[in-house]
Amino acid sequence: MSSVKELLTSTPLQSIDAKVLLSFLCHQFLGWSKSQLISRDHEALPEGLLLEWKRFEQQRLEGLPVAYLIGTKAFHNIELQVNNSVLIPRPETELLVDFAIQEIEKRLSADSELIHCLDLGTGSGAIALAIAFHFKDHPKAVERLKILATDTSTEALVTAETNSAHLGLGHFVSFKQSDWFSTLGVQTFDLIISNPPYISKDDPHLKLGDLRFEPISALTDFSNGLANYVELIYSAKSFLLSGGCIAFEHGYNQSKEISDLLLFEGFSSPQTLQDLAGLDRITFSYLN
Ligand code: GLN
Repeated sequence: MSSVKELLTSTPLQSIDAKVLLSFLCHQFLGWSKSQLISRDHEALPEGLLLEWKRFEQQRLEGLPVAYLIGTKAFHNIELQVNNSVLIPRPETELLVDFAIQEIEKRLSADSELIHCLDLGTGSGAIALAIAFHFKDHPKAVERLKILATDTSTEALVTAETNSAHLGLGHFVSFKQSDWFSTLGVQTFDLIISNPPYISKDDPHLKLGDLRFEPISALTDFSNGLANYVELIYSAKSFLLSGGCIAFEHGYNQSKEISDLLLFEGFSSPQTLQDLAGLDRITFSYLN
């Protein structure tokens, strides 16, 4: 007879992982809330749950990310379905969402017409959907904000569209399969944002932790980590309105090169924002 308390004291997993996995199983099998996980932690758990726990424990010990095991990840103010065809949304990416929200708010209060945003390489839809969720009850945004999210992967787009439907954001966000700008035709945007694959192909982190299980093409450009920025910054000029904004997430040591690329392509003075760890994480600029 095993209880939550016994499983948590005897597991070799890290306490935080074990709690998330057990909380998921107790909710699924018994309908328990998080507080019941604590108040009922001495009760014997059913056989089916214990079998599933053993399977989870084993898979986590083999390295599988918790988010893929439970199939969801919290990001900004939303909960996203995730699977091994999409990158697991990272907390530092919330900074790009907050930045985009500010940019959209500026435009909403300036009473501009429609506001068109483009999220390139959306994966699970995290960035586009977190922005849309923020504005879902905003009367001006409901009429004027349009977000297009693209990805080159069909599997990723299926996941992103499922997330959009679950969150009821279909009226804000549309999806299109595209290798960066390749299938977008002639369109212009007020805001272009992206968290492209930026890890260099030789970075040892690709062989560590959760990254081993994530889609490699969402992590690395198979080059020096900057190849996608070169392409995106060059092409973005044709897709941004005058006064439009471009903003990227990037690696902690890439802000200088990205700023130089932006200046080289004629964008206004780039600015960089730091994440909660104090690392350069977002660089943005405007097209004059
Ligand atoms: N931020 C991710 C990491 O360092 C990488 C995601 C990306 O390349 N865009 O694990």
